[in-house]
Amino acid sequence: MIVPIKQIITKAKAGKYAVGAFNTSNLEITMAIVRAAVQEKSPVIIQTSESAIKYSNLKTIFGVITNLANTVGKSVPIAIHLDHGKNWPIVKDCINVGYNSVHMDASEKDYATNVRMSKQAAVAAHKKGIWCQAELGSILGKEGMVKLETGEINMKDLMTDPQQAIDFVAKTKVDTLAISVGTIHGHFKGIEKVDQRRLKKIVASVKVPLVLHGGSGLQTKVFKQAIKNGVSVINIDTNLRLAFKKALIKHVDTNRDTSMVDPRKILAPSTEAMQAEVVKTIRIFGSKNKA
Ligand SMILES: [Zn+2]
Repeated sequence: MIVPIKQIITKAKAGKYAVGAFNTSNLEITMAIVRAAVQEKSPVIIQTSESAIKYSNLKTIFGVITNLANTVGKSVPIAIHLDHGKNWPIVKDCINVGYNSVHMDASEKDYATNVRMSKQAAVAAHKKGIWCQAELGSILGKEGMVKLETGEINMKDLMTDPQQAIDFVAKTKVDTLAISVGTIHGHFKGIEKVDQRRLKKIVASVKVPLVLHGGSGLQTKVFKQAIKNGVSVINIDTNLRLAFKKALIKHVDTNRDTSMVDPRKILAPSTEAMQAEVVKTIRIFGSKNKA
């Protein structure tokens, strides 16, 4: 059932476990996330990126998520969140359509602009009684990886400064903070680390719940340590994509010459694989039976 995100995250922070925030862009991924949450009796956050909204239409994907959450998922707490809203019009549209939380990501801008844009989003979100996430420090993607490897940029310079975080949260009044502590968007097994010392410093500096992005590809023990150190929300996208693709290739390959043409049947193993991936993640994060 759709509930205010405050309810989900406040309980996670107090209980010292993390809630998974899983990205969706269509019916199948959303079904996989909701079914896994019900199976594990776990709260979940279902989130859409700006590109997922462009792909599926805001009202359509919002309808898919809320309808599934309030029917199939009626026994578990579910919240809808905008992931990496970089453009104010989209952030505003999500607030108005009924999202439970929005991420105003102005982390690529200079500090003063990041403060101004995050504050503006927080004010608008709070008027609707919902939460606002902002981001301090840079969480790289694939292009950033190349710059890191060539030495053009240094990971340390991108990470969240604990002292600056105090000032940022005080000025913006955001409810959750996305931090940069070494993770990267996408899947880079064996390369990604979490600067746990920095994470602990940030936790000691600010009271707001912290969000770890770029979680896919991290080892179980790294997740557990980050949660122990105080992370309350962890974003997962790539791991579901990998599960989807792997199951699809296998299924299509074995059924190439059969009469199977129903897209629902073609996609079923992929949906099941994503559900299994969400279940696995929920168990690592400790949110099983916390519904
Ligand atoms: Zn992210």
